[in-house]
Amino acid sequence: IMGCIPDRTTNLCSDQLIAKPATPTHLNVTSSLETLSLDGYFSFNNNNHAAKDFGNTYQSLPLAVLYPKSVSDISSTVKLIFNMGSASELTVAARGHGHSLQGQAQAHRGVVINMESLKGSQMQVHTGERPYVDVSGGELWINILHETLKLGFAPKSWTDYLHLTVGGTLSYAGISGQAFRHGPQINNVYRLQVVTGKGEVITCSKSKNPDLFYGVLGGLGQFGIITQARISLEPAPKMVKWIRVLYLDFSSFSKDQEYLIASENSFEYIEGFVILNRTGLLNNWRSSFNPKDPMQASQFNSDGKTLYCLEMAKYFNPDVTNVIDQITESLLLKLHYIPSTLFMSEVSFVEFLDRVHLSELKLRAKGLWEVPHPWMNLLIPKNRIHEFADEVFGNILTNNINGPILMYPVNKTKWNNNTSLVTPDEDVFYLVALLSSAVPSSKGTDGLEYILTQNKRILEYSARADLGIKQYLPHYRTQGEWRAHFGPRWKAFARRKSSYDPLAILAPGQMMFKKGI
Ligand code: FAD
Repeated sequence: IMGCIPDRTTNLCSDQLIAKPATPTHLNVTSSLETLSLDGYFSFNNNNHAAKDFGNTYQSLPLAVLYPKSVSDISSTVKLIFNMGSASELTVAARGHGHSLQGQAQAHRGVVINMESLKGSQMQVHTGERPYVDVSGGELWINILHETLKLGFAPKSWTDYLHLTVGGTLSYAGISGQAFRHGPQINNVYRLQVVTGKGEVITCSKSKNPDLFYGVLGGLGQFGIITQARISLEPAPKMVKWIRVLYLDFSSFSKDQEYLIASENSFEYIEGFVILNRTGLLNNWRSSFNPKDPMQASQFNSDGKTLYCLEMAKYFNPDVTNVIDQITESLLLKLHYIPSTLFMSEVSFVEFLDRVHLSELKLRAKGLWEVPHPWMNLLIPKNRIHEFADEVFGNILTNNINGPILMYPVNKTKWNNNTSLVTPDEDVFYLVALLSSAVPSSKGTDGLEYILTQNKRILEYSARADLGIKQYLPHYRTQGEWRAHFGPRWKAFARRKSSYDPLAILAPGQMMFKKGI
């Protein structure tokens, strides 16, 4: 990859990452791992895929990849490494679907556990008063959707993209357009089974081992490997009315978003995005959407303007279409969008939830999926969002970024504050996601260096203006930066680390704790 950020320890880019000749210590470690009696197996060669991720900028080659077939494969591997003590540098990274952005699921010369191998056991859907599904930590959300739909149920809270694992999203939060009502995915879990950094297998919930349960949720993989999760479900709709409307004025856009997330009977999904349309080229925001009034819509001229698109979804079943039309219409009547810019689409529930996969297939076909992704996700308090929008969309981002800019508020009163996730202090805050793709080898405005510099400028401005933002899916290189990120909650986080992973074996790619220190 041209323009790659080299591996932190070896200083090599991916094409230079070739397995080094084994040293005596390596041989000892390798033979120790080989003595384990496993249901699955270790791979010591051809592990380059485990040195990469979706971000496509960080690469660290592991010593071995474990393909576990059972929870005990994971626990005996971690236990063996724990018993080697702090003299050994060996670390362990659970790898979900490898959709991290900066090497968080990698382990330099350590063991990567390929969590998707664990998903062999059947998913168990339980209906009744409090429906739930028991799934493996390595299960993909798209598979959970298909399996639960067989009984007419589905999880309540999602991410925009479903080809991610349960363990991967629960280690952060799992935020999408349903989070204003149900909270993020970490709020919709009843129970976890976890392998700690000592190799113990522990079941935890809000009443059993709650310290570990809340620590692991949003815990960046620091306290244990999630091997099983019990996810809460609700009856699933068959269809979705998917609506997009446009604004030229940021105030009306954000006021409408805030109004919608505050009312009990609004849409089931509320998001939004920013279209920096200075080049005159409209993004593909309206592909597969039909204007309510095609005549008027064709007269709407957006060239050279910054537009704000509010995106909503109303779930429904085909037998109640009339009622849903009325409810949707009365909700839309309360909003202040440009009347000619009402766009609608009706799709199945699965098509709606799996929408980003369609874009993935298109980008893959053009060779544009496996490019560097210098993404930045920010959580910004509601009372500072206008300042942020003025500066960032008015001054700092002078070109449209090569990818969507999501922007929507969520309501923290619906979120559980006992998890490890760090959010701004205010009850309502915005998620702003700058999801850029870089053009490999470009030195221009679509190149990696340029985008990283632009991201840095946004962070520097936010710090200077003291906006009280927190990064989501954060990436820091030093413990000092992590301490600042956690603020007063760092003490509890560090205490949990010393209880559950005292040798700092787990998730070294987060660069929070160094083994043996
Ligand atoms: P990995 O990248 O494999 O792992 C992530 C981290 O979790 C690593 O530190 C790893 O060690 C740890 N980990 C993995 N599995 C486990 C486990 N079983 N137990 C403990 N720790 C584990 N996020 C949102 O919230 N909302 C979105 O809408 C959203 N959309 C996205 C769209 C795309 C296209 C992509 C690439 C990412 C998106 N994300 C979103 C971010 C995503 O949730 C995280 O990157 C997530 O970590 C990816 O899951 P994964 O299974 O690939 O995890």
